Amino acid sequence: MTIEKRDLISLYNLPTEVKFCRKCTISNQRPRITFDKNGVCSACNFKEHKKNDIDWLDRERELKELCDKHRRTDGSYDVIVPCSGGKDGSFVASMLKSKYKMNPLTVTWAPHIYTDIGRKNLDNFIQIGGFNNILGSVNGAINRRMSRLAFIHMGDNFQPFIYGQTNFPLRMAVQHNVQLIMYGENGEVEYGGDLSNAYKPTRDIADHDKHYFSGKPPEFWEEHGVTRKDIYPYLPPKYDDIVKNETEIHFMSYYIDWDPQENFYHCVENTGFETNPTRSEGTYSKYASLDDKTDGYHYYLAYIKFGIGRATSDTAHEIRDEKITREEGIALVKKYDGEFPKKYFRIFLDYLDITEEQFWDVIDSWRSPHLWEKINNEWKLRHTIWNES
Ligand SMILES: [Zn+2]
Repeated sequence: MTIEKRDLISLYNLPTEVKFCRKCTISNQRPRITFDKNGVCSACNFKEHKKNDIDWLDRERELKELCDKHRRTDGSYDVIVPCSGGKDGSFVASMLKSKYKMNPLTVTWAPHIYTDIGRKNLDNFIQIGGFNNILGSVNGAINRRMSRLAFIHMGDNFQPFIYGQTNFPLRMAVQHNVQLIMYGENGEVEYGGDLSNAYKPTRDIADHDKHYFSGKPPEFWEEHGVTRKDIYPYLPPKYDDIVKNETEIHFMSYYIDWDPQENFYHCVENTGFETNPTRSEGTYSKYASLDDKTDGYHYYLAYIKFGIGRATSDTAHEIRDEKITREEGIALVKKYDGEFPKKYFRIFLDYLDITEEQFWDVIDSWRSPHLWEKINNEWKLRHTIWNES
C-alpha cells in the first residue's frame, strides 16, 4: 500500500493563514466558508440574517402551499423524507405528518456498522413514531471494500455512505412517483459553505450532482476493481428520469427556524428517540450522529485535514443558536476536539482490513504543514482557538 502525501491547500482551496471566526469557533479552514471584513464567518452572518430579516410566519405559509401542492388524496405517498432515525430527519417526518397532514415515506440508507443505539432509534421511529420506512442495505463486502478505498485514496471512509445517503432518496422518489423530497437542514448554508442556495428552499438537481460526484466518479471505483454492478445502488437514478418525475429537493430549514436541540426535544417526545448513555468521542454531545460505529473516523479525518473536529462543529452551531457562549465553546473545543475515537478502533481496522500502522500512514498523509507541526515526536496543531491572540 503506497500512500501519497496530499497537498491540502490546493486540494480544498484552503487559506494558508488560519483565522477563527470572531463570533463562533469555526476557522477559515472549513472548505467553502467565507469570512467578512470583521472576521465573522458566513454561517454566523447567515444566522444573523435569519434572526433579523426572515418572517417565519411567511415562510410557514410557503411550506403550507408546498404541502398543498403535493398532497395526495388517493392514499399514496406525497413526500419522501430521508431519515436515519436520528433527531433531524425524524423531526421533519413527524412535523410533516402530524402538523401538515402529509403522508411521508421515510427512507434510510443503512450505516456501515450499526451501533445499538442507532438501530434502536430507527426501530423506535418506525414502531413508536409510526412511520413507513424503506431501508436501503447494500452488499456488505462491497460497502467495506469501497470504504477501504475511500479511506486510503480520499481520506474519508464515509464517502460510499454519503453517496448512498444522498442518492437513495432520489431513487425512491422516482420509483414511487413522489415529486417532493424534504431534507432537514441545508448543511452548506447553516454551517458555512456554498451559499448559492441560501435564499431559496430547494437544491438544483444539477447542483446536487456537483456536490456529491465531484469527489471521485464511477471510473475511479472501476479502476480499483469495483464493478458497475457493485456501484449501481449508490448511484442516482438516470438524470432524465429525475427530471421527468419533476423531482424537487427542499430543505425544512428554509421554512422553519431550524434548531437541532429543539428537534431533539421533539423527537424524545414523539418518535421514541433516545440519546447515547455516554458522549460521542471527540465532542461533548450525546444526541448527534450516533448510528454508525465507523463515523468517528470520518470526523477524526476532518480534524486532521482542517483542524476542525466534532467539538468545533458542535460548539459553533450551539453558539449561533445561543445555547452556549463563545468562551464556553472555546473551553469545550480545548477539552474534546481531536480526541481519538478509540472505542471502535479495532472494529474499524478489521472492517477496512488495514493494520494500525497503515491507518496512521494514511492519517499522517493528510496533515498539512500549514496546520500541523511535530514537537517532541508528537503532532500538534500550530493554531488553536484557545491560543489565538
Ligand atoms: Zn462564525
